[in-house]
Amino acid sequence: MEKYDVIIIGGGPAGLTAGLYAARSRLKSIMFERISPGGQVLNTEQIDNYPGFADGIAGWELVDNMAKQAEKFGLQIVSKEVESIDISGEWQKINTSDKESALAKTVIISTGAIPKRLNIPGEEKFTGKGISFCATCDGAFYRGLDVAVIGGGDAAVEEAIFLTKFSPKVSIIHRRDQLRATKILQEKAMANEKIKFIWDTIPLSVNGNDEVESLKLKNVKTGKESDFPVKGVFLFVGLDPATVFMPQGIKKDKKGFIITNDNMETNVPGFFAAGDCRSKILRQVSTAVGDGATAAFAAEKYIEGL
Ligand code: NAP
Repeated sequence: MEKYDVIIIGGGPAGLTAGLYAARSRLKSIMFERISPGGQVLNTEQIDNYPGFADGIAGWELVDNMAKQAEKFGLQIVSKEVESIDISGEWQKINTSDKESALAKTVIISTGAIPKRLNIPGEEKFTGKGISFCATCDGAFYRGLDVAVIGGGDAAVEEAIFLTKFSPKVSIIHRRDQLRATKILQEKAMANEKIKFIWDTIPLSVNGNDEVESLKLKNVKTGKESDFPVKGVFLFVGLDPATVFMPQGIKKDKKGFIITNDNMETNVPGFFAAGDCRSKILRQVSTAVGDGATAAFAAEKYIEGL
């Protein structure tokens, strides 16, 4: 079984930065990523708030550069799905779906997060067939058609703005009368004539036969229910941590995000977490890369102390 100083699981900005730092520290490092590196950023058309790019940068381009940079310094990136991690021995054992295993002195988890579901009738039936979690991926399918966006955070507002490239009317349906999104995005959306807001409203169900035909909505202030005809629904109601295969005993917050200290150390020695899968206040590319750098540095110090 191959032995490593550091095994990084998950190839978004946090993992790629951890890989860059670990490789530059000449630690024997490998990254396991399910398909190819990039993570959620691949679903973002344009990143405007990552410092250093005055005109913004395409999501795919930013992570592609991060991967090339980490590989240039020696990080090995392998497409493999991790199924379980055994932390009971002297070495941490990573078991992958091809029934192989690898051993590590330290593990950095940077598996990110996945879109939260609403758990309403019709959601499962129409996911991928009228309900989408990615405007960059699916927006063009709705060219010329009105769409609805559920949520009021950065993702909902940013993606709604993107969807106006294709749709004549984008309705943002939000459960409160104030957006959570950052002010600059709010201003952009409010100034966009194609975006309409439906406040204080939640969806109760997604309806249709073979395709989405309408949303059943409820105004949470008046209690009034209504049918809202629409062909496409984009759900951006927050994130759940992608931490399914995490070993027992790793402490998490009540939403399932991994708890670490400032050095990205979890409660298990040699086991680190970085990026969106970690319990923290702000999930951005800029905070993910900081987490990744810190985790790799702390892993190096941990190995030196062994
Ligand atoms: P978020 O910030 O958690 O916002 C989720 C939105 O969905 C909130 O407006 C919330 O309403 C609403 N919501 C949650 N549960 C709901 C439910 N059951 N029914 C109806 N509405 C519901 O999530 P996000 O927008 O996906 O962003 C996740 C993280 O990524 C954030 O840290 C965000 O800053 C970051 N992000 C950043 C950018 C950027 O910087 N450009 C872009 C995308 C994402 P309430 O407001 O009432 O809670």
